[in-house]
Amino acid sequence: MALSHAQSESDSQIPCTFASRYVRTALPRYQIPKQSIPKEAAYQIINDELMLDGNPRLNLASFVTTWMEPECDKLIMASINKNYVDMDEYPVTTELQNRCVNIIAHLFHAPLNESETAVGVGTVGSSEAIMLAGLAFKRRWQNKMKAKGKPFDKPNIVTGANVQVCWEKFARYFEVELKEVKLRDGYYVMDPEKAVEMVDENTICVAAILGSTLNGEFEDVKLLNDLLLKKNAETGWDTPIHVDAASGGFIAPFLYPELEWDFRLPLVKSINVSGHKYGLVYAGIGWVIWRSRDDLPEELIFHINYLGADQPTFTLNFSKGSSQVIAQYYQLIRLGFEGYKCIMENCRENAEVLKTELERTGRFNIVSKDRGVPLVAFSLKDRSRHDEFEVSDYLRRFGWIVPSYTMPPDAQHVTVLRVVIREDFSRTLAERLMFDIKKVLHELDSLPSKFLLIAAGGKAAEEEAGAGDGVILLKKREVEIQKEITNAWKKFVIAHKTKGVC
Ligand SMILES: *Cc1c(COP(=O)(O)O)cnc(C)c1O
Repeated sequence: MALSHAQSESDSQIPCTFASRYVRTALPRYQIPKQSIPKEAAYQIINDELMLDGNPRLNLASFVTTWMEPECDKLIMASINKNYVDMDEYPVTTELQNRCVNIIAHLFHAPLNESETAVGVGTVGSSEAIMLAGLAFKRRWQNKMKAKGKPFDKPNIVTGANVQVCWEKFARYFEVELKEVKLRDGYYVMDPEKAVEMVDENTICVAAILGSTLNGEFEDVKLLNDLLLKKNAETGWDTPIHVDAASGGFIAPFLYPELEWDFRLPLVKSINVSGHKYGLVYAGIGWVIWRSRDDLPEELIFHINYLGADQPTFTLNFSKGSSQVIAQYYQLIRLGFEGYKCIMENCRENAEVLKTELERTGRFNIVSKDRGVPLVAFSLKDRSRHDEFEVSDYLRRFGWIVPSYTMPPDAQHVTVLRVVIREDFSRTLAERLMFDIKKVLHELDSLPSKFLLIAAGGKAAEEEAGAGDGVILLKKREVEIQKEITNAWKKFVIAHKTKGVC
C-alpha cells in the first residue's frame, strides 16, 4: 500500500493522447469513470503511463529479482489465478511450498531426523516472515514469564541500529521495545559484545543480520551465540537468537558453506530469508523457518476447515497468489546447489570487478566487505565540492538508479552509494556503469562547488540572500536547477496534452 495524497485540481484528470481514438474524454484520476472503455484503450493508457517508470534491470538499488527464465515466467502466468490459501483445492501447490520449506531448512542445517519435516511457512517477503518470527518469540517469552509469575508487559528486542525498517515496524505494531546497538565510524553492523550487554530478562530475542542492508556485511552470529550462551548460563535466562538472512540466506550456504551462522548454532531458533532476493524469484515471496516445533507456540497456529480438510495456517494475511511459491520451487530444482553456487560466484566476481574499478579512480572509499552480500557500497573520499547525492542524481540521467543514503546513528555523518549486484547485472553492464560513473565525476569536477562562499559584504551576496555581512550562501545546486527545469517541462507537457480528440 502506498499512502497517497490527493493532488490539485489540474491533476484530477488523466489526459490520454494515444487512447483518444477510442476515448473522447479524459479519465478522472481519483474517481471511477462513469463509462467503460475498450480494452485496447485501457491497455494503452496504462502501458503509456508505465513507460515513465524506471527500467527494473537498471535499478541497482534493489536486491529484488528482476529477471527469471521464460519457462518460469510461463509457470507463473499459468498459476496466476490460483489462490495459495485454497490448500484443499490446490494440494499440489501446498505440497510444493512444503518442499521449499524443507529444502531451505536443510540448507540452513535445521536439526531434523530422517522422518521429521521442517517447521516453516512461505510469506509475502521477509517482512511478514519477521513479524511471524517476532510474534513467536514474544509469545514464548510471555508464556515463560507467566509461568514464573513475573511481569510480562515490557518485552524488548536487541538489534543493531542497521536493522531494516521491518524490525521497527514489528516493534511498533506489536508493542515490543527495540533496543538498538549504535554503530560507529568504520563499523556498520551490530557489535555482538554490546548487544549481549543490552540483553535483560525482558529480551525476547537478539536479532542478527546476515547481510546488512546498508553495506552487505554479515554480522558475527557465531560470536553472538557464544557470548549469549555464556550470559544465559550466568543469569539462568534463555535468550534466543533470530537471524534475519533476508539477503544473505541464499548467499552463505553457497559461497561460505563453512561459515556458522544458522541452526548449527544452538541459540538460533528461527531464520527468515527473502525468496525474492537471492532466492531468485520475482517480488512476493519470503520464508521463515523454525528450529523445531517447540519454537513455534501452538496457540499462534490457526486451523481452518471451511476450504476442505483441516489446514493449519500461520500468516498475517489470508488470500494471496501462489505463483511465487511455484516459481521458488522451479528455481530450487532447476538450479540445484550447483546452479545457485555458480550464480552467486558470478555476482561476487562482478562485485569484485566493480569494486576494483571504483578504487582505481582514486576517488572512492569502499564501505562494503569482501565477504557478504554481493554489493558495492562506496563513498567519496573528497566531498568538499560535491557529495554522493549529486553522483546519484547525475547517474539517474543515464538511466542508472544508484541510491545514496546516510548511515544510522552513530555513523550518520557517513554517506554511501550502493550498487547491488544481481544475477542479471552482467559484466557488460558493470563496465558501462563504470564508464558512466567516470563521466559523472568528470562533469561534476567542471561544475561549481555545491557550496559557494561569497565574499562577505559583497553586493551580489546581499542581493541574492537578502542578508547582511558575512553570510555564507548556499548556492542553489546545479542539480536542483536541472530538476526544476525537468519538472516545469513535465507540467507543461501535461497541461498541453489535448483533451478529447487528437
Ligand atoms: C530486504 C530486507 C528485509 C525486508 O525484506 P522483504 O522481503 O523486502 O520484506 C528485512 N531485512 C533485511 C536485512 C533485508 O535486507
